[in-house]
Amino acid sequence: MKILKAFKYKLEPTSSQIVLLYRMAGCGRVVFNDSLEFMLNILKNETGISDKKELYNHLNDLPPKDRIALIKKLPTAFSLNKHLTQWKKKEDRTWLGEAYTDNLQQRQKDLSGSASEWCKGKRGFPVFRQRKLAHHSTMRFVNFTKYCGIENRHIKLPNKLGLVKYRNSQPISGKPKHATVSLNACGEWHISIMCEIESSNPQSTATTAVGIDMGIAKNMTLSNGLVFSGVHSFKRIMDNLAKEQRKFARMVKGSANWEKQKLKIARLHQKAANIRRDYQQKSTTIISNNHAMIVVEDLKVANMSKSAKGSSEQHGKNVKQKSGLNRAILNQGWGELRRQLKYKMEWQGGIFLAVSPHHTSQTCPACLHKDKANRTIQASFVCVECGFTENADIVGAINVLNRGLATLAKTS
Ligand SMILES: [Zn+2]
Repeated sequence: MKILKAFKYKLEPTSSQIVLLYRMAGCGRVVFNDSLEFMLNILKNETGISDKKELYNHLNDLPPKDRIALIKKLPTAFSLNKHLTQWKKKEDRTWLGEAYTDNLQQRQKDLSGSASEWCKGKRGFPVFRQRKLAHHSTMRFVNFTKYCGIENRHIKLPNKLGLVKYRNSQPISGKPKHATVSLNACGEWHISIMCEIESSNPQSTATTAVGIDMGIAKNMTLSNGLVFSGVHSFKRIMDNLAKEQRKFARMVKGSANWEKQKLKIARLHQKAANIRRDYQQKSTTIISNNHAMIVVEDLKVANMSKSAKGSSEQHGKNVKQKSGLNRAILNQGWGELRRQLKYKMEWQGGIFLAVSPHHTSQTCPACLHKDKANRTIQASFVCVECGFTENADIVGAINVLNRGLATLAKTS
């Protein structure tokens, strides 16, 4: 089985390479925005709405069938590419002639892809790329083996960029297919190289199955009792971040201090993201290496049940008090953990299952008696029927595992 894996590195470009990178990102943004403007003009004609803001509101409120009808009027990536050739001849766009065409075409594909996602109801209609938003400065390099390469501890990039120094933080493996260069809010450039890897499908030597309960206080509790509690320094950084953000809000927008504070906050975000990424990689590797089968709670339902669990069992206060931001981060963390566990299990030829989390906290794993009364205190589970006693998170994880095993028995 072939799978794609991204290898991300920090670039250390020279000052002249930095100038080129910014210019390339700028050209990409202009083409993205020109193409979007082109689409919006068509949509203005189709809908009769000329005000941009009104048009966006209208587009994002449309039911699926109207979206499908409208997207048929919009140019495909292929026809946008053809328009690009014409645009380059325009007087105020002649400089695009020197830009890296592959990257420009790729930006048009990105736009077209975003429009299809809007059509499927997955996101809002694409918006204009802005220079001041770092994540709007990305560029893609397709056909890596032909136009790019890794030489002498440098990454070779096309369009006069040449050999760019990079921090070789991990060995690369597989066949590089394409790469994305992006800018972060701290002004650092990174490259993510997508490689095709032949998964040898080694049957994992592990034979055990495990269920996982994902929670807020304890990040992951396994049915065998093992707990991954998350990273303590992460919470400290998040608290610090909240404090700095309050300071930021009181500063005069655009002032020197405001700019300084903005960078400080961007760095803290970066630091928190690094810590979380590191934790997620390590913990999911440990779990997937040690088990042949992993069962987790289904995410969409789990989110709802976590908050419901809180209110029905009188310990929702804590959950509610957490800020929206905090919860969003935690939820995002759960999603990423599941994604990594899934691909690592597939990689090893193991089994990954997501099951409904309903009543996993109230069912007794010993006698299957389901009762709210089994769970009168937060931390422990005491079955009112058979007296089985265990830590509540472990009980949740055992029930998740049992549900996974039952699903497996039904399908095989
Ligand atoms: Zn029981």
